[in-house]
Amino acid sequence: MKYCSTRGKVQGLSFTDAVMMGLADDGGLLLPEEIPGLSPNDLQQLSKLSYPELAFQIISRYATDIPESDLKALVNRSYASFEDPQITPLVKQDDLYILELFHGPTLAFKDVALQFLGNLFEYLLGKSNQRMNIIGATSGDTGSAAIYGVRGKENINIFILHPKGRVSPIQELQMTTVTDKNVFNLAVEGTFDDAQAIVKDIFGDLKFKERHALGAVNSINWARVLAQVVYYFYAWFQVNQETGAQQIDVSVPTGNFGDIFAGYIAKQMGVPINQLILATNSNNILSRCINSGDYSIADVHHSLSPSMDIQVASNFERYLYYLLDCKAEKVVQAMDNFKKNGRLEFTATQKQRLRNDFLSSSSDDNKTLETIRSFYKKTDYILDPHTATGIAVGEQNRNPAHPLVCLATAHPAKFGDAVQKAIGFNPDLPAPFVGLTSRAKNVVTISADKEQIKNFISANAT
Ligand SMILES: *Cc1c(COP(=O)(O)O)cnc(C)c1O
Repeated sequence: MKYCSTRGKVQGLSFTDAVMMGLADDGGLLLPEEIPGLSPNDLQQLSKLSYPELAFQIISRYATDIPESDLKALVNRSYASFEDPQITPLVKQDDLYILELFHGPTLAFKDVALQFLGNLFEYLLGKSNQRMNIIGATSGDTGSAAIYGVRGKENINIFILHPKGRVSPIQELQMTTVTDKNVFNLAVEGTFDDAQAIVKDIFGDLKFKERHALGAVNSINWARVLAQVVYYFYAWFQVNQETGAQQIDVSVPTGNFGDIFAGYIAKQMGVPINQLILATNSNNILSRCINSGDYSIADVHHSLSPSMDIQVASNFERYLYYLLDCKAEKVVQAMDNFKKNGRLEFTATQKQRLRNDFLSSSSDDNKTLETIRSFYKKTDYILDPHTATGIAVGEQNRNPAHPLVCLATAHPAKFGDAVQKAIGFNPDLPAPFVGLTSRAKNVVTISADKEQIKNFISANAT
């Protein structure tokens, strides 16, 4: 399998090269040159597999340059860190199915991809005798999942900047109690935007970037999308075996469009998804785009589902490539226009196709709280605010003829304040998180100053 960029200047990459490149050198995103379709017979054979076996079968169709036995070991190691033997168990509540993606080490769905990506990086770096220094800014979720993905790994150091005192206490503890010597937590005296701007600046210094082999773990890496394709298959097989249904609807709480894009790929591969339902919070650029072709940026609102507080969804360009009939020059033109005018324009046919590919609406904080409250009343099941957004929007848009699967992207205890607002109490933390406060801390406070941060990285890079 070869990989090419959505912007056409990078072509013919191996899977390994695509993973190591991350963002394509021409500024685009990398995609496989074809999406392998699975026959009903293939699907039948995959339907009986355990999660790690299934993950190996799906990923191996794309990672064709990694020896099978190595890939199998990587996949098995990645999912051994999940506390549920089913990895992403499916539970039925009320009249829908919830796919729990939060049984990894940081209680959020990003673990499904980042546990795999960390192992993959370590393996590929070891093979080519290279090293990598990962740098990122986080407002919460991604930082801790990235740290848990690479803690203790060979040839990789990770530097995560978070705004001091401005991430939730549990998220801060999750990051700062990791004491492996390749992990560096920087509490920046500033806002998340300050931290993010500094990281962007540092990546823009190409000499510095090269000298320290800087890498990123953001959701533009193809390997992350790929790891997420697996659970759409897994959910489908279980619903099909339980109900005999011929199709499912799937609702996805969406921010950067990575998770739902994985669903789009799974559907192209043959998972019989009737409708992909894209749920946004009040940051609704993607809902506007699907419903009326209006893809124009607005200010970011802070909501109770902060991991979806995103305006420009970095993975949307991958879908755009298909929407523009795989014509890279059209993608370049569209993205140039977007940069200039802050909006994308679509033809009537493209708007129609958007509406065929996705259904969408948004749920504001009130609706989300109301959903947590009413769902708890009906079922005793506690939703986190991201998952609740997906359920609110899923119920609005579902086709009653098909079972609805809602992706649960975080454990409710991770967003206890929002849950408390809805139902009056804080959900219990799972056992491994009790007592985090009394553990040793690994964090350095640093001012929001690019040079100081670069000096720190130079002094501690691998
Ligand atoms: C990242 C995240 C999302 C959004 O996923 P995307 O792939 O960015 O669309 C939703 N919920 C939670 C809890 C997340 O951490």
